[in-house]
Amino acid sequence: MDNKLYIYNTLSRKKEEFKPITPNNVGIYVCGPTVYGDPHLGHARPAITFDLLTRLLRNLDYKVRYVRNITDVGHLENDADQGEDKIAKKARLEQLEPMEVAQYYINRYHKYMDLLNVLPPSIEPQASGHIIEQIELIKDILAKGFAYESNGSVYFDVEKYNKTNNYGILSGRKIEELINNTRKLDGQDEKRNSFDFALWKKAAPEHIMRWNSEWSVGFPGWHLECSAMSKKYLGEVFDIHGGGMDLVFPHHECEIAQSKSVNNHIPANYWMHNNMITVNGQKMGKSLGNFITLDEFFTGNHDKLEQAYSPMTIRFFILQAHYRGTIDFSNKALQAAEKGLERLTEAMANMKRIVPSKESNVDIKPIIDNCFNALLDDLNSPIAIAKLFDAVKIINNLVAGNKTISENDLNELKSFMNTIIIDILGLNTAETANNNDSQDKLDDVMQVLIDIRAKAKSNKDWDTADAIRNKLNDAGIVIKDGADGATWEIK
Ligand code: ZN
Repeated sequence: MDNKLYIYNTLSRKKEEFKPITPNNVGIYVCGPTVYGDPHLGHARPAITFDLLTRLLRNLDYKVRYVRNITDVGHLENDADQGEDKIAKKARLEQLEPMEVAQYYINRYHKYMDLLNVLPPSIEPQASGHIIEQIELIKDILAKGFAYESNGSVYFDVEKYNKTNNYGILSGRKIEELINNTRKLDGQDEKRNSFDFALWKKAAPEHIMRWNSEWSVGFPGWHLECSAMSKKYLGEVFDIHGGGMDLVFPHHECEIAQSKSVNNHIPANYWMHNNMITVNGQKMGKSLGNFITLDEFFTGNHDKLEQAYSPMTIRFFILQAHYRGTIDFSNKALQAAEKGLERLTEAMANMKRIVPSKESNVDIKPIIDNCFNALLDDLNSPIAIAKLFDAVKIINNLVAGNKTISENDLNELKSFMNTIIIDILGLNTAETANNNDSQDKLDDVMQVLIDIRAKAKSNKDWDTADAIRNKLNDAGIVIKDGADGATWEIK
């Protein structure tokens, strides 16, 4: 492969040239959603980041096996093994089976990822479908002496592991600090140390998601599923492990400890983490009133939103920031992204109208090289997009007849724009152009007709009012009069 890809490795804390274990093949594992709520921005960012990575690798002719799991059991409200299971709690409140809750939100997640043009993973394993593998892994960890049973639960012995390994290798945390910063155990606790984490939890009587094991009827700890499922589908050591930065500790640190205690190596060579999202400068949170779901973004149905934003606007906005930097969502920033995407979309359409000349007096080579190099440099999508806008200026000059381009160069320009925008950045510009244009126009036209009809009615001009309604009805559009004025829908 001629093109060298560099990625920032959280494990080594530096940018490294990517070298796969098997030539031309890449195994990626990304921690997917815990399915107990509607998909929101926090789901969109990792999905789009690792979609970009996968698309880029495939464009570089790597065969990619992309595994992204679904957490449907064992993720408790409090990361320190306390509280109710998130899905079971939702099921209790809604009076549903836990798997009904999980399935409902899995369907919603798939729907919104499709709208964001995020390609489905190669394998999407669910934690609840891999209880046997998780129990086997607990047995292996116990056999190596890095876990202990206590009152029907099994815990990972962090202090013992740390004597021969480095617990904190990924996050940089020191076990001494953990000891000082965590509460002292009161002697009643099942754990030897408060920072030990659960591999298996004995189910309390009210806990509905439960399986048999030799230790108790219970359920696996949250961190365990990723170690068990990545091993099953990608092997003991694979290439890239990804997720949000909030997963570095404890989740990924615990995954490393679990896998290394059994296999003697860290499960993945490269660890990639996308940064977090803020809304108007604040962390997104239900209690802050700035928690916005993807559905609310796409419909504009939220107090903080001045309008609806299309899935492609959201995708473009996320790609305009480097994945390791934070992104702040605000109406102003999203509206700017919407305009930027429109300019790209127009350029894609205008490109078709360019007539080649005998010779070029534009130089597209540096733009193409710099754009690809930016993506190969740890997925620097903001610089790649800036280069696209340089290309847009050239396209606009060519369309206006200010510049000329040869047939060869024009073909290269078209192929470049399509590869970067459609294939790698995954921006479905054709859909954006069609949907925005026709929907906006129809909305405008219908509002004009509804206003004219309201005026006619207030003037007691019933003939005109009825004619508008009847003719629209013939055209397949139904006008409905309500207390707050008329609305319309397509039959
Ligand atoms: Zn995980």
